[in-house]
Amino acid sequence: MDMSLPDLDRLKLASTQTKKTVSILGSTGSIGCNTLDLVSRDRDAYGIKALTAHKNVAKLAQQAIEFNAEMAVIADATLYSDLKSALLDTDIKVAAGEQALNEAADMPAEWVMSSIVGAAGLKPTLTAVRRGATIALANKECLVCAGDFMMDQVREYGATMLPVDSEHNAIFQIFDFDHPETVEKITLTASGGPFWNRDVADMTMITPEQAVNHPNWSMGAKISVDSATLMNKGLELIEAYYLFPVRKDQLDIIIHPQSIIHSMVSYMDGSVLAQLGTPDMRTPISYALAWPNRMSTPSKKLDLTEIGTLDFSKPDEARFPSLNITREVLQNGGSAPTILNASNEVAVYAFLEGKIGFLDIAKIVEETLDKISFHNMTSLSDVHDVDDNARRVSSELITGIMN
Ligand code: NAD
Ligand code: MG
Repeated sequence: MDMSLPDLDRLKLASTQTKKTVSILGSTGSIGCNTLDLVSRDRDAYGIKALTAHKNVAKLAQQAIEFNAEMAVIADATLYSDLKSALLDTDIKVAAGEQALNEAADMPAEWVMSSIVGAAGLKPTLTAVRRGATIALANKECLVCAGDFMMDQVREYGATMLPVDSEHNAIFQIFDFDHPETVEKITLTASGGPFWNRDVADMTMITPEQAVNHPNWSMGAKISVDSATLMNKGLELIEAYYLFPVRKDQLDIIIHPQSIIHSMVSYMDGSVLAQLGTPDMRTPISYALAWPNRMSTPSKKLDLTEIGTLDFSKPDEARFPSLNITREVLQNGGSAPTILNASNEVAVYAFLEGKIGFLDIAKIVEETLDKISFHNMTSLSDVHDVDDNARRVSSELITGIMN
């Protein structure tokens, strides 16, 4: 270092050199906003490259200005001129459309938060993987729909995948990666969502408003519905299979309504390691953001005496068919998880739009899986073909229910 520099300048230089560059795919959502909340608490540590959103121009523009982003991308191409005008007096690069999402992911950020919801996040996440970035993965759907392919690409391009989903982040913190043979099983905890103890007879009338009202977590609409059907836990079972070196029969699920234990790893000697904390996504996001270090967060600190009791029970697979469906899908592998994910996305949005009932979601997924035969997939275009076909079949089934 040049010793002739005044101390202050030297410090400034050191801080710009160590700034971690960050892009957030899906910055206007629940995970995206929580990530920016953490960044806002230590502006000197992070520099924002790209931010992206689907349709929310106002929020995206506000974030891009506030965090001095280099690029802002709106996925809905019809909103390009709105975003352009909102950022007129800035030098922030503006782009729109699906291809522009890939451009955002291709910006040279060391750390990329993948927090677009659904399979729409697959391509931009892959783009970031292919330049060897560190990916903080919230978008579980991209692993469910293309897990083998995605993890092959992570290995091929030397990318780093850090799980953000609270359960997988917990496992990441407690799994002995040096001795995976000592692991007996992974147990994912599930809050059970708002209806875990409700009679099946009362479940037919569940409204979208009730389903998105999660007792412990504040999240986007799609994952909230997935939590209510327990499909979220099924998707997480598949996600865990791709993220950790375990066999399919080493993955277990337990209902834990307080969401304090975020998951557990059982070892061959009888030890069970768990990660605990109050339910606040800023804790797992911060772990990925600061990794391999830790950072302080504003999450409420855990006081077990205040909580008093932690409850556990077996999930009721009769009332929540999603769990059996996903177990079978995981067993089948190949194109089955891609069909499951696409079909579930279509069914959840149909439910949110009031086109089908709550219990129809799992039925649509099950019937879609019954109607399409599974095969091995070798390329990304295979993934897209299977995804498109499953969406078409599910949409037809939904039309059938509506008529
Ligand atoms: P959200 O709906 O709040 O936000 C989704 C983000 O993706 C928004 O920025 C939206 O603009 C963008 N987006 C939506 N559709 C898009 C499209 N077609 N093209 C481009 N961008 C699009 O969702 P969320 O709750 O933040 O969840 C994001 C992801 O993280 C999901 O995969 C979810 O399963 C996962 N996750 C969320 C939580 C949570 O607490 N919210 C926890 C664990 C995992
Ligand atoms: Mg989760």
